[in-house]
Amino acid sequence: MDAALKKQLIAAAAGTILAHAEELTELDRAIGDGDHGLNMMRGFAAVLADADNLAAKPLGDYLREAGTHLVMTIGGASGPLYGSLLMAMGKAAAEPAQDLKGAARILAEGVEAVRRRGKSDAGEKTMLDVLVPVSRELSAAVEGGAAALDAGLAADLCAAADRGLESTRGMRATKGRASFLGGRSVGHLDPGARSSQLLLRAICGVLMHELHGEGEGAGRA
Ligand code: ADP
Ligand code: MG
Repeated sequence: MDAALKKQLIAAAAGTILAHAEELTELDRAIGDGDHGLNMMRGFAAVLADADNLAAKPLGDYLREAGTHLVMTIGGASGPLYGSLLMAMGKAAAEPAQDLKGAARILAEGVEAVRRRGKSDAGEKTMLDVLVPVSRELSAAVEGGAAALDAGLAADLCAAADRGLESTRGMRATKGRASFLGGRSVGHLDPGARSSQLLLRAICGVLMHELHGEGEGAGRA
């Protein structure tokens, strides 16, 4: 992955968080303390400010150092969780074979780190309700023989993220601040699930655009 693409990914991630900060805050106001939009904006502004430096690094360091920025600046529950995601992905990305199979493994390692850090899993009305199904979808595609990201797979990953987000609406939160509301958390989307879905959509969008731009473009995961 070249530096220009790494920068584009940061710009797209930060851009979608900025564009939706108010919505994330509103979602968090309903079932939390109303800071998720601001928290995420702070985190991604820090990553964006360091984009030139980060983009010049190998994939593993790029992910790990972006994760460190998030831990240091987001605060709240989501800072350490998004930080763990990226830092574990960075660690996994330090190994060779960065094809689609490698990408599936990298994402799976990241999601596993969120699970461990959050002592949580899908079904508890958190970001994991988006991250887990997307990671599963990607791993299943690789097991099914997919060798590169194409439009069909990107659409499947987006759909898994959308379904995961929507699934949080009917859930009762058992982790994080929203769990203090008990049954009153039902009927609202989880803010962290929405930020995860936004980030995944933005990243898929950039990668797809990049593939089309390259014509052949195989192997860019
Ligand atoms: P805080 O809850 O400290 O105010 P944020 O508002 O930034 O932090 O983030 C809240 C989001 O973090 C939730 O919507 C949820 O998706 C996620 N979250 C909270 N606790 C956990 C956990 N234990 N495991 C996974 N995700 C969690
Ligand atoms: Mg909050």
